Amino acid sequence: MNVPLLDLKPQLTLLRPQIIEAVTRVIDSTGYILGREVTVFEEKIAGYCDAAFGIGVSSGTDALLAALMSLDIGPGDLVLTTPYTFFATMGTVLRTGAQPVFVDVEPETLNIDPQAVAEALEADRKTGSRIKAIIPVHLYGQCADMQRILALSQEYGIPVIEDAAQAIGAEFPFEQNGRITWKRAGSMGLCGCFSFFPSKNLGGIGDGGMVTTSDISFAEILRSNRNHGAEPKYYHSRVGGNFRLDPIQAAVLAIKFDYLEEWHAARRQNAAHYRQLFIDAGLAEAPVILPRAIYAEVDGAEQHNHHIYNQFIILVPRRDELRQFLQEQSIGCEIYYPLCLHQQECLKSETYRHQSFPVSEKAAATSLALPIYPELSYEQLAYVVTMIQRFYHGT
Ligand SMILES: *Cc1c(COP(=O)(O)O)cnc(C)c1O
Repeated sequence: MNVPLLDLKPQLTLLRPQIIEAVTRVIDSTGYILGREVTVFEEKIAGYCDAAFGIGVSSGTDALLAALMSLDIGPGDLVLTTPYTFFATMGTVLRTGAQPVFVDVEPETLNIDPQAVAEALEADRKTGSRIKAIIPVHLYGQCADMQRILALSQEYGIPVIEDAAQAIGAEFPFEQNGRITWKRAGSMGLCGCFSFFPSKNLGGIGDGGMVTTSDISFAEILRSNRNHGAEPKYYHSRVGGNFRLDPIQAAVLAIKFDYLEEWHAARRQNAAHYRQLFIDAGLAEAPVILPRAIYAEVDGAEQHNHHIYNQFIILVPRRDELRQFLQEQSIGCEIYYPLCLHQQECLKSETYRHQSFPVSEKAAATSLALPIYPELSYEQLAYVVTMIQRFYHGT
């Protein structure tokens, strides 16, 4: 049996006529920069994410870069984030001339640890208050602990940029007086940064991204910065870039958007199947650590976790051997991420070399992403677990 890590063909087959129609419509319109297709899609995403505004940009990376630039972050500034994320979270900070400050992640979710955030902010206040933004990442499709992070953001007066590239539609439960209110990724911080890279839950036929915000003046700065900071045209009071979302991508994404909830639900269903299959195979807890659905207790059921499962990550011993074994059985799997950001070659500074983030480093050494895309069959999921059982127990 063949189980690819991701197969985009089923969605293409389902939507091909509409996609071709939309692409043709944009081509025939000769309106190739921004315009109606982009505006319509921005309104859809803003509405879906419970934000007042959506600003379509060229990628998730440019969403982060535009957000940092719109906060005037630059040389001498620091940005607090996690070392266990995709490179773009740190790459964009470095490109502004600022430096990242890392704190470790929580072992349950692999999302930034609010206690460590609190300690870093307190230390920074004593040494010159150079931290100008916090970037929590909603890793793999599950929100970071935004209630505690937002409380710290308010206490220290430091804005939060959500890296929601993997988490469109994910929600975090805010608790007040014993009542739970779920809030959407991209609606909690000053802004949320989304990616429509083809492997995300909502993926285009190329690159694309979006910044959501409910702050009208920040939205205006973002809109201006996405277009070289021109206001009006050819008059530049600030330096932006060309971060515009392509209307062809917007038109295609608007079609796929109508299926997003269905696809999220199918991924959650697959995750629930995996969980049961791992339990039945006697692999759960040891040797395989399953992704923690930490908020399951709130509603009592996995489906109500509001995790969108962009990735389904297990933590395992002998990870590299298992990966090779699964690949030999025609099962796609991948390591997100094999090297923490503080250990990357491009970070020349000695300060990072001597830092250690044990939870992140352990995750980098043991994490493995299994196929989770919506169209997988139950038989394919069962085959994956059977092969993992064979690897560990030889049966
Ligand atoms: C995908 C991703 C990005 C970057 O998005 P692109 O559209 O590929 O530029 C940023 N952060 C995280 C966490 C991501 O997963």
